[in-house]
Amino acid sequence: MISALLPNFNRANLAFDHGEGVWLFDSEGRRYLDFGAGIATSSLGHAHPHLVGAIAEQAGRVIHVSNLYRVPQAERLAARFVAASFADSVFFCNSGAEANEALVKAMRKAHADAGRPERTRLICFEGAFHGRTLAMISATGNPKYLAGFGKPVEGFDHVPFNDLAAVRAAITPETAGIFIEPIQGEGGIRAATPEFLRGLRGICDEAGLFLGFDEVQTGMGRTGRLFAHQWAGVEPDAATLAKGIGGGFPMAAMLARERVAKALVPGSHGTTFGGGPLACAAGNAVLDVILADGFLDQLNGTAAYLRAGLEALRGRHPRVFTEIRGQGLLLGLKCVVSNTDLQAAALEEGLLTVGAGDNVLRLLPPLIVTRADCDEALRRLEAATIRLAGITAAAK
Ligand SMILES: *Cc1c(COP(=O)(O)O)cnc(C)c1O
Repeated sequence: MISALLPNFNRANLAFDHGEGVWLFDSEGRRYLDFGAGIATSSLGHAHPHLVGAIAEQAGRVIHVSNLYRVPQAERLAARFVAASFADSVFFCNSGAEANEALVKAMRKAHADAGRPERTRLICFEGAFHGRTLAMISATGNPKYLAGFGKPVEGFDHVPFNDLAAVRAAITPETAGIFIEPIQGEGGIRAATPEFLRGLRGICDEAGLFLGFDEVQTGMGRTGRLFAHQWAGVEPDAATLAKGIGGGFPMAAMLARERVAKALVPGSHGTTFGGGPLACAAGNAVLDVILADGFLDQLNGTAAYLRAGLEALRGRHPRVFTEIRGQGLLLGLKCVVSNTDLQAAALEEGLLTVGAGDNVLRLLPPLIVTRADCDEALRRLEAATIRLAGITAAAK
């Protein structure tokens, strides 16, 4: 018989009771070092006093009012994003897939409003992940996610990642824009080169297309800048944020230049929950921390320290993983052993990690992680590596 909770996830048999900083505690009091952060989401770690205080304070005032009224918390958060980014305007919603839907709708309608209604198609990339709604499984394009759900939603053309010639060849009179993750997260921490992102900007400018970045995983400081695209110095016309934006509180955003944002007029798009007072109080609290003077500099220092430790580990255990990918605290270990075996061995050592495509194991600690936490993670990862190497040797 099916379980009461719909069994659509492969869950570890582990339930957490509470957390503190980079640690999670199960009901027996065993503690786990959280280098998964709920898939890059618990950006401030667990029970961060500033975030908890902001949520509790707002919950005690008013949780929800609807978008029938002004929401000062949302106005403030949007203004802060506009001040800190390429964007002129921000739409808030509840999940990454939903933010991506808003981006696709805004790009299509901006063309339609400008007298180009035929421009509805977006060029997307092999290895992408954009979410689980019907349109976003089509934008993702992975046959594994499309199987059984009927004809894919029209309008998404896929080309190889980091291949400018393929992008150029895929442009037709119906192309509206290009949609890409600056670093593919679920796909295995595969980074677009800065030259590729700059090339995409050039193509979009030449052909009158919109450039969209899915920064659901890479955004909100995860790579050491507020947005990953800032490393390449390339500005999009629209970008999405979700995972880390509320520090674990569900929320998301679609940021856009005026030429795209202005397409979403009253009646054209909406949301019941999106941009509510509670979510935006959480978002503002997270920004307070991330935008504080020196926070991202410190993060980059810690990330370089972690990476150096991982490089040393890789040198000692070349039969376990061969390559360290990613930027900032969005890191992937390209495994020789199965990534799920390494993940399981790490869990045995009390270290939480996340798998990814391309046989990669992701390390995504909370952004508040310290060098001492990294030392502890490296110790546990090495113990897992040795444990796994022992098992592998014994099996041979
Ligand atoms: C997680 C993710 C999504 C989907 O976000 P949901 O909140 O699960 O809808 C979309 N794009 C990227 C890059 C992601 O990592």
